[in-house]
Amino acid sequence: MSKVADSSSPAPSGIPHGGTENNLMEKVVSLCKRRGFIFPSSEIYGGLGSAWDYGPLGIELKMNVKAAWWKSIVHRRDDVVGLDASILMHSKTWEASGHVHNFNDILVDCRQCKHRVRVDHIKDGKCPSCGGKDFTEGRPFNLMFKTNYGAVEDGGSLTYLRPETAQGIFVNFKNVFDVTRRRLPWGIAQIGKAFRNEVTTGNFTFRMREFEQMEIEYFTTKDEAPACHQEWIDDRLQWYIDLGIRKQNLQLRKHADNELAHYAAACTDIEYHFPFGWSELEGIANRSDYDLRQHSQFSGVDLQYHDQITGEKFYPHIIEPSGGVDRAALAFLVDAYHEETVKDQTRVVLKFSKQLAPIKVAVLPLLKKNNDIVAMARRIKNDLQKELVCVYDDTAAIGRLYRRQDEVGTFYCVTVDVQSLEDGQVTVRERDTMRQERIPVDNLRVYLKDHLDYARY
Ligand code: ATP
Repeated sequence: MSKVADSSSPAPSGIPHGGTENNLMEKVVSLCKRRGFIFPSSEIYGGLGSAWDYGPLGIELKMNVKAAWWKSIVHRRDDVVGLDASILMHSKTWEASGHVHNFNDILVDCRQCKHRVRVDHIKDGKCPSCGGKDFTEGRPFNLMFKTNYGAVEDGGSLTYLRPETAQGIFVNFKNVFDVTRRRLPWGIAQIGKAFRNEVTTGNFTFRMREFEQMEIEYFTTKDEAPACHQEWIDDRLQWYIDLGIRKQNLQLRKHADNELAHYAAACTDIEYHFPFGWSELEGIANRSDYDLRQHSQFSGVDLQYHDQITGEKFYPHIIEPSGGVDRAALAFLVDAYHEETVKDQTRVVLKFSKQLAPIKVAVLPLLKKNNDIVAMARRIKNDLQKELVCVYDDTAAIGRLYRRQDEVGTFYCVTVDVQSLEDGQVTVRERDTMRQERIPVDNLRVYLKDHLDYARY
């Protein structure tokens, strides 16, 4: 036997994405729960609105997203360095940034159904819940989570959980600049948790109250800022495409002047075509020289850039590509979801890119009652596991094992059968094409690493 029976081996008739737009989201949410990507937070207590926990496969996916971002932004560029600032910061930070005074949604209550709603979410003057038109006066609601720092709860101990990671970068500008001694343009990148007491939630992990951001603050001159902004827009868009999102599901949306913060010169969002509509994955803003100027004023520390060669001194202008890890992971999940009909059966397959696939290789024994096959399969798995994320599974017949791995996006299945014991070869099955190839065990590690493009991630 040279190939392992796979009921779905003929070329599949593809239904890209799978299902209608309406039920696609339900299917993804259900798969995430069933296979251990994402669970509702505190589920045994009835859950906590808009908080989600990443399960065994979800954490692998999320770590792969962050690693891919870090590699492309920090390791593969000469002009960006990394940082990991604390979540809790001096409360003055949030005064300087404007978050204490301006980080508000204006809320009203519907008098008919008591639904609380953001003013900017009311369409045609009607309550989105009941259609009523009678609302209370609008009042601002600050999105920052308050907390007390230290044992004494008084006004002086009040601070906030950071609503964005960016401010941790601005307050460290001088520290990082002093140790790296760079000339402009250059940037600082950070990945970390952020918290917003969002009023409107929902759409799974798209809008959460605790989420993770991947942010870059790129410092440049006023003259170079517009070109630099465009370069980052192109760069960031390409990142999503390189990691597997189909081009037609991505678009750029330039902010109108009346959407921009008073200090911002321009902003463009990268949007993804989620089943619930086009929505922001990442915003790329030209923030002018506002941030360092503000922090200089509030802290009394001079945060101007001093060019050692030209002698010029000025506040750098800042380009800020700011994306969400959770939103990116959700877009990768949705885009990867495919249903294919093969011999009248539906195969669900998550077509993750090689870099993002949570599991790279599954090793499967064809006969779990044959001790020699099981021992060989386990040996192979133990060997591969040193370098690749790899699992062993013998809990079902081979057809079902393949289906299970397809459904979570495992790139390769390696099957050990009776003949493997004689000729030292195994069957390698590729996820998307379902093509099978016999490979000598001695060459397996190199074969898989080459085909997985291992050096790239
Ligand atoms: P939105 O308009 O959707 O509320 P935003 O414009 O307020 O988003 P930014 O402040 O630009 O978002 O934050 C940068 C990125 O952080 C967003 O593009 C998104 O990927 C992520 N993000 C922001 N808020 C949330 C949230 N509540 N849940 C998950 N990710 C978020």
